[in-house]
Amino acid sequence: MKSSWKVVVLWMLPALLIGFFLWQGAFSSSAMDTGRNAASTRMSYGRFLEYLDSGRVTSVDLYEGGRTAIVEGIDPEPVLGSQVQHWRVDLPSNAPELIAKLKESNISFASHPMRNDGAIWGLLGNLVFPVLLIAGLFFLFRRSSNIPGGPGQAMNFGKSRARFMMEAKTGIKFDDVAGIEEAKEELQEVVTFLKQPERFSAVGARIPKGVLLVGPPGTGKTLLAKAIAGEAGVPFFSISGSEFVEMFVGVGASRVRDLFKKAKENAPCLVFIDEIDAVGRMRGTGIGGGNDEREQTLNQLLTEMDGFEGNTGIIIIAATNRADVLDSALMRPGRFDRQVTVDAPDLKGRLEILQVHARNKKLSDEVSLEAIARRTPGFTGADLANLLNEAAILTARRRKEGITMPEIDDAVDRVVAGMEGTPLVDSKTKRLIAYHEVGHAIVGTLLKDHDPVQKVTLIPRGQAKGLTWFTPNEEQGLTSRSQLKARITAALGGRAAEEVIFGDAEVTTGAGGDLQQVAGMARQMVTRLGMSDLGPLSLEGQSSEVFLGRDLMTRSDYSEEIASRVDTQVRAIVGKCYEDAKQIMRDHRTVIDRLVDLLVEKETIDGEEFRQIVAEYTVVPEKEEYVPQI
Ligand code: ADP
Ligand code: MG
Ligand code: ZN
Repeated sequence: MKSSWKVVVLWMLPALLIGFFLWQGAFSSSAMDTGRNAASTRMSYGRFLEYLDSGRVTSVDLYEGGRTAIVEGIDPEPVLGSQVQHWRVDLPSNAPELIAKLKESNISFASHPMRNDGAIWGLLGNLVFPVLLIAGLFFLFRRSSNIPGGPGQAMNFGKSRARFMMEAKTGIKFDDVAGIEEAKEELQEVVTFLKQPERFSAVGARIPKGVLLVGPPGTGKTLLAKAIAGEAGVPFFSISGSEFVEMFVGVGASRVRDLFKKAKENAPCLVFIDEIDAVGRMRGTGIGGGNDEREQTLNQLLTEMDGFEGNTGIIIIAATNRADVLDSALMRPGRFDRQVTVDAPDLKGRLEILQVHARNKKLSDEVSLEAIARRTPGFTGADLANLLNEAAILTARRRKEGITMPEIDDAVDRVVAGMEGTPLVDSKTKRLIAYHEVGHAIVGTLLKDHDPVQKVTLIPRGQAKGLTWFTPNEEQGLTSRSQLKARITAALGGRAAEEVIFGDAEVTTGAGGDLQQVAGMARQMVTRLGMSDLGPLSLEGQSSEVFLGRDLMTRSDYSEEIASRVDTQVRAIVGKCYEDAKQIMRDHRTVIDRLVDLLVEKETIDGEEFRQIVAEYTVVPEKEEYVPQI
């Protein structure tokens, strides 16, 4: 609808253009035709002179400044009744002798001026087109500026387009946030700041203006901020840091001003700035000396935060998952002087979060939330909420009364590894994938320090063609060197099986992900954990990810020589583990073949069955199971 107007106007323009030229042509010839209506017959100049000499011409009218003449004369061979005829003659431009001749022969002649009205029309015609064109363009421009995001936006950017959201009542209470007790306790106080500021100002306490929530995505930072506003019963303003950063210089700063203006009008209130690292990165860093626009925005934010008193009832809560990249000016007292860490929940936390989200779900009696919590180490609050929702969807699809354990299991797999695909039909590829997965699983089973196998499956999920699941033992906290080596060996088990069974030339791309993990683990062992012949050295910081704002320039804080020794060590670890994995394949070929046959037939083997089969051929090491208490 919006664009159809433009299309119409655009098609009109060429039509107008053509019309205009036709029109112009019509004007220029009309001046003559109205002069003498019947002068349709043409006569050459030579003929005209002949007629003149022979005295047949009676009168001559000159037009167009003497370039054309309408000649009245007597036709020697009349076609129609009358002998008197009119001819049109084109005169050569230089024929001054003609006038003399006409005078001499006593023929009446008259010179007619160019018709003025024609000229005026011509002039108007010349004007109409540009006027239409300008009007058309103007129209186009007007229209597009009404379309949000259209080019007309350029005229009023940064202005009124308030990108922040305001919720008068969030309706979320602390009860809705679970599993992050420490953070909740810290923030309980903020509610009191908002509700009864006078209690603090009475004793001369300065109320903090800003709180920084730090934690990985999905742990409930936004939820916490909303709960604070909900508990205190104040409006909730939210904006994302990335909304400040725009193409145009000065927009970010003006948005910050807008936001604080609105907040002051609505005090007491809570302002939530999500992803503050988008604006709050260290200034003066980055390739090419930093980003002026971002710095201006950050400066404006700091100015605004200094500009109001703590007791006006505005509290700013910002969230980030990277506190390490923030500008230190943000963390100064009087700004975000409180930092609250919001981490992924532990077993107890997961259980509490599951309880919150199970409130509005129909679970059958057999479902134990505790069992789910045990199965989901590393899940954040968002993952758990998503898990229960997926299970509910599956339950509805299977037309069951309430959620049962199979739905939970499927939902966990889905949240971790993605959507289920259709299994392959029996083929060489399927057998190769089966060998690959059994390779992982058998190494995991036979190494004492590896987590036990939970299940092996050939049902594809997400990117993976087959999967081996292990039961992780997260709550033990620390990981030993032999555990890391066992993990590397098991991760290499897939490729080792491919190579031992099918030969060097047949190995596939299927191991790409495994090898990446292996490289990461081995490198960390050498550079961060001091678990190699290089000795207990930490050569790299916490995050190995390059942060353009800072790390690029100071990336290698060790010498070339050490760097090459690191590479040698990494290769030594990986090489040794790969040899071990291949040896396991060679030593247990019979049981591997049997497991592969079973897996191709059944598509999934669970951990218990897998261990029983392996135990028929060799000794399976006991793995102590760590059962965390709630
Ligand atoms: P973040 O802002 O840290 O990325 P959110 O607060 O947006 O995470 O969390 C997304 C959703 O996950 C929430 O709406 C909520 O349903 C669920 N959730 C996350 N953490 C928790 C928690 N601690 N307790 C209850 N629900 C949670
Ligand atoms: Mg969030
Ligand atoms: Zn693999």
